[in-house]
Amino acid sequence: CGIIGIVGNQPVVERLVDGLKRMEYRGYDSAGICTVHQGALVRRRAEGKLANLVAELASNPAAGEVGIAHTRWATHGAPTATNAHPHATDRVALVHNGIIENYKELRAELREAGRTLESDTDTEVVLHHISKLVEEGRSPQEAVAEILPRLRGAFSLAIAFRDHPDMLIGARLGSPLVVGYGEGETYLGSDALALAPLTQQISYLEEGDWVVVTREGATIYDAENTEVEREVRASGASA
Ligand code: GLU
Repeated sequence: CGIIGIVGNQPVVERLVDGLKRMEYRGYDSAGICTVHQGALVRRRAEGKLANLVAELASNPAAGEVGIAHTRWATHGAPTATNAHPHATDRVALVHNGIIENYKELRAELREAGRTLESDTDTEVVLHHISKLVEEGRSPQEAVAEILPRLRGAFSLAIAFRDHPDMLIGARLGSPLVVGYGEGETYLGSDALALAPLTQQISYLEEGDWVVVTREGATIYDAENTEVEREVRASGASA
């Protein structure tokens, strides 16, 4: 329901949680974060209010300067910690807003390939398809460009990669996603409001766009994988 991602140059966990708080008004039933830190994906999730995630982080702290976070409004699968986002394999972590309509077909392919899924969500199939391609040797960009045309429904996505700790990838179709530009940091958000304390400089992704975000900025591609420019403007959202 709410997405925030930060490729930062200082710790991100508190800022991710703060971004989630700013999206609480949208409603949610669970929440989670995942950072890329010291060669691993570090994930924390909790059912219910953000206070539960904050408590989980207090007893199980997470570090990192790059990460993604999500508040979930369940559409497929009960509102449990196991179904909360980010979904993750050893190598890839992903958050998703919206609905993947053809998840059954995509899940059947994964089962046939012998992969074990742990949640009941429509989201986890997207994660596993990307992770499978990365495990087979594709770059993150190649894996994302290969899977996006196969997804039916509505989505915005933010994806983190264990072996590419200085980068996130975002994508959108039928659900909003913005890029925010900071000083040596770059952000993703489902909502300009979530990024308001971090930056006012925003690009709105267009339908079918996907984006590679690094500390230096963002490279945006359209649905045909052609690099495109999207206007940077002042969000007007107040911090
Ligand atoms: N369909 C996904 C799920 O149920 C994402 C829901 C959302 O937008 O929060 O997990």
